[in-house]
Amino acid sequence: MELIQKNQSLKNLNSWLVGGEAEYFCQPTSVEELKECVAWAQQKNLAITILGGGSNVLVADQGVRGLTICLKSFSGLEEVSANEFVALSGTSKSEVLKVFLKNKLPPALFLAGIPGQVGGGVVMNAGVAESFVPREFCEIVSWVEVLKPDLSLKKYANADIDWSYRHSEGWQPGIITRVGLSWKNGILEGAILNKVKDANRNRLSKQPLDMPSCGSVFRNPKGHKAAQLVDSCGLKGFTIGGAQVSTKHANFIVNTGNATALELWDLIVRVQKTVLEQKQVQLQTEVVRIGAWT
Ligand SMILES: Cc1cc2nc3c(=O)[nH]c(=O)nc-3n(C[C@H](O)[C@H](O)[C@H](O)COP(=O)(O)OP(=O)(O)OC[C@H]3O[C@@H](n4cnc5c(N)ncnc54)[C@H](O)[C@@H]3O)c2cc1C
Repeated sequence: MELIQKNQSLKNLNSWLVGGEAEYFCQPTSVEELKECVAWAQQKNLAITILGGGSNVLVADQGVRGLTICLKSFSGLEEVSANEFVALSGTSKSEVLKVFLKNKLPPALFLAGIPGQVGGGVVMNAGVAESFVPREFCEIVSWVEVLKPDLSLKKYANADIDWSYRHSEGWQPGIITRVGLSWKNGILEGAILNKVKDANRNRLSKQPLDMPSCGSVFRNPKGHKAAQLVDSCGLKGFTIGGAQVSTKHANFIVNTGNATALELWDLIVRVQKTVLEQKQVQLQTEVVRIGAWT
């Protein structure tokens, strides 16, 4: 089929800049094209992997078997009113930020810090630690539309979804296609652009945003901060090959240049082991591994 390519490198499609090739690859631009791609994979009995902005995935060096559906071009944003929007799931959060900003709506503050796409934001219930209101995706999503495996589209209201810390459940299986976004609890007074700039400056001072990473690697365990646990084990700067625990933020693992996915994963496992031994806390990854790891 015309939409499908073979052996597409995924290295530049994830924020760690690692990983191998997709066996089959497509970039649909509409729900119709997405359906065609899914039907094609189903006919061939191929596994389907969804790649959003690639800012929270670790792509295997051996690549991804089956069909990888990249949502980079699956983008579009409609302003229903000054505080209600509908986004295709591949729309970048920065595009969404712009409309919230234009309408002086407070979600602009937390959106400014999070890369990736709207769909990935829903899957991960992306959010920030700062005490902004709102500060997580679950607070700005009105509904989520999903392409189900039988190729029907099903709409879930916010309340149908079970939202938790960096996770959402209840809409699966399927591919998120469209998301209704809204904020009806007032506007931000004052110079909102300055507030967003301050929030960005604050992040820049604390996070290694000049190096390839996937943001926070580990979830914060109940009652703990993952970064503090890693730091207190003396792991800042610990390196395996091209993978390094950031010297700036201990919950970030950066690619110092030529890291492989395996080196990043080995470092993740080493950090987990050390924190378990020294602090008796099991760290869980926030980052999702995709592709052929065995
Ligand atoms: C510098 C940096 C800073 C970050 N800071 C934060 C932060 O402050 N807070 C935070 O929460 N996260 C943060 N992250 C992590 C990341 O940006 C978020 O988790 C983001 O929501 C992931 O979106 P994405 O589109 O990149 O998803 P991807 O990484 O592409 O995918 C994540 C998962 O969602 C699935 N998926 C993606 N789109 C769809 C879809 N449409 N339908 C079904 N499944 C889908 C993928 O298959 C994968 O399992 C940061 C990352 C970086 C690189």
